[in-house]
Amino acid sequence: MNSSFVNESIRCTVDQCKNHAQSKNYCSLDSITVGTHENSPTQDQCTDCKSFQVK
Ligand code: SF4
Repeated sequence: MNSSFVNESIRCTVDQCKNHAQSKNYCSLDSITVGTHENSPTQDQCTDCKSFQVK
């Protein structure tokens, strides 16, 4: 993975993620998958970035 790439279409503040652009608040992946851990999601806290990877 090219971690210097900044995908300005995906804003993200989770700089604890291996895929974070670090220098700016963006993701470095071409695309991400968003999912949920809830049966009936009702607010943003119910959603998860499934592309998250721990550093
Ligand atoms: S993979 Fe998800 S959590 Fe990680 S930097 Fe990209 S958008 Fe953020």
